[in-house]
Amino acid sequence: MALCQPVDHFISGQYRSAMRRAVTLAAGSLLIDDDKPPELAAGQARLGVDVVGLCGSDYKLFHGGHPYGRFPYIQGHEFSGVVLEFSAGYDGPLAVGDRVAVEPLIPCGRCIACARGRSNCCVDLKVLGVHVPGALADEIAVATSALYPVDGLDMELAALVEPVSIGLQAVVRGNVSATDTVVVLGAGPIGLAATLAASDIGARVLTVDIIAERLARAEVMGAELSVDTATSDLAAAVADFTGGAGATVVLDATGVPELIRSAFDLVAHSGSIVIVGISEKDVQIPVIQFSRKEVNVYGSRNNNGVFGRAVELVRAHQEEVRSWITHRISLEELPDMIAYGAAHPETVEKMIVQVNEQS
Ligand SMILES: [Zn+2]
Ligand SMILES: [Zn+2]
Repeated sequence: MALCQPVDHFISGQYRSAMRRAVTLAAGSLLIDDDKPPELAAGQARLGVDVVGLCGSDYKLFHGGHPYGRFPYIQGHEFSGVVLEFSAGYDGPLAVGDRVAVEPLIPCGRCIACARGRSNCCVDLKVLGVHVPGALADEIAVATSALYPVDGLDMELAALVEPVSIGLQAVVRGNVSATDTVVVLGAGPIGLAATLAASDIGARVLTVDIIAERLARAEVMGAELSVDTATSDLAAAVADFTGGAGATVVLDATGVPELIRSAFDLVAHSGSIVIVGISEKDVQIPVIQFSRKEVNVYGSRNNNGVFGRAVELVRAHQEEVRSWITHRISLEELPDMIAYGAAHPETVEKMIVQVNEQS
């Protein structure tokens, strides 16, 4: 993909009469139709969407299994685009034609979490592509405050800044430093992002999964060791890796109750557990586990002020992040391929939708 081509197919300065969009109509049903281009509200920019990444939550939304989902909607929360227009009065640093990654969060600004500087877990948080229409369309209008310039990154990498920010946030929540030994449970994109972020900080990382291809990718991200829990004893591997002490940080990117339960055994005395995986299920944990090790347990959601850092992390590890991409599809291929992606987690690490290519 070329980086510096003009955005001529957006017909700069003109307006489309119609744009394509992907509508998830009901569980398992998605179609491409036409809609009017978005209208700009105050403080917004109109973007031409370039690349949209699909993630685990998109497959859950598509099948109607996501706790925040309701039909119909336009999915797409991991994306890159080109600025086509600003609403009146914009005087920030960006210009028409700039390439950007987008932080897809719209916090309320009034709730207890927002007041405490934690708008990533806002009580009334709206996420583009989940609660409000997302980026699986030719164009989208977003707040200019959500735009991050991505000079030097191509657009498929720019679209992956968002999932990287989720893994980075989990690492930040766990206060990971270069002296930590980190166990990452799960090597889907979030687990890979956490592995990359923790390794980048200088921590020693052991990453766990049951899919060989994912484990191989974790090692590319910098994991010193990867463990297949289908064939290996995880407790023994972690004991070996940490000289018997346990991991100072265990980070769950699976949401699987049994693995979260196991984190309490794998963590070192005085260590931390970070849960970024999502599930509606319960976890049963003996109460003594909390005090015996004086363990810190942190939830992690979206990102809180580290999106710019995620851009830099991707910039510093471009080929590692690109290696997540197993499938590149067009918008027209999406109705079939989203079902394929949901059904084939063993082969689909990251599927990206090339909505409009800037080359
Ligand atoms: Zn995602
Ligand atoms: Zn709020």
